[in-house]
Amino acid sequence: MISIEQLGWEAGTVGELDHRFLKAPHIKLRSFTQGPTGDVVYAVDLRINLPNVVFLSSTEMHSFEHFLLAGFQKYMPQNFISIGLMGCQTGFYLILFNEGRAEAIFDSYEKILKDVLTASEVPYANIAQCGNYKNHSLELAQQLAKRVLDAKANWRQVV
Ligand SMILES: [Zn+2]
Repeated sequence: MISIEQLGWEAGTVGELDHRFLKAPHIKLRSFTQGPTGDVVYAVDLRINLPNVVFLSSTEMHSFEHFLLAGFQKYMPQNFISIGLMGCQTGFYLILFNEGRAEAIFDSYEKILKDVLTASEVPYANIAQCGNYKNHSLELAQQLAKRVLDAKANWRQVV
């Protein structure tokens, strides 16, 4: 059996929570699904902004998504399945295979955000690899990465 606490998450914050009480930015385990042979798929929320208060612009989300895609592939190559936008424009969904430890996810996220700060271009921001390749801003992605990094001490504060 999987123990949420052993993975480093607070049991009370797993699953759907009332969005009025969320704090941001935070990282939380949304769900996990174990298959018959023991493999586990984890869904993790990377909440960036307070719901119903501040929204990411389409350019911010898009460039940040590219960095998260490149970064999780780099730092968790055995585990990374996908990253997706929250339609409400307040964060991202991270899907991982057989890695649900909070510490490992926090570490990779921090490395990715630090890489954003020193990057010279947005990854995959070209016509061959992106469906809206002009809608990018390195500067906005870096401002966002800095804001999330500055709040690192609060990443575990979900509510
Ligand atoms: Zn794109």
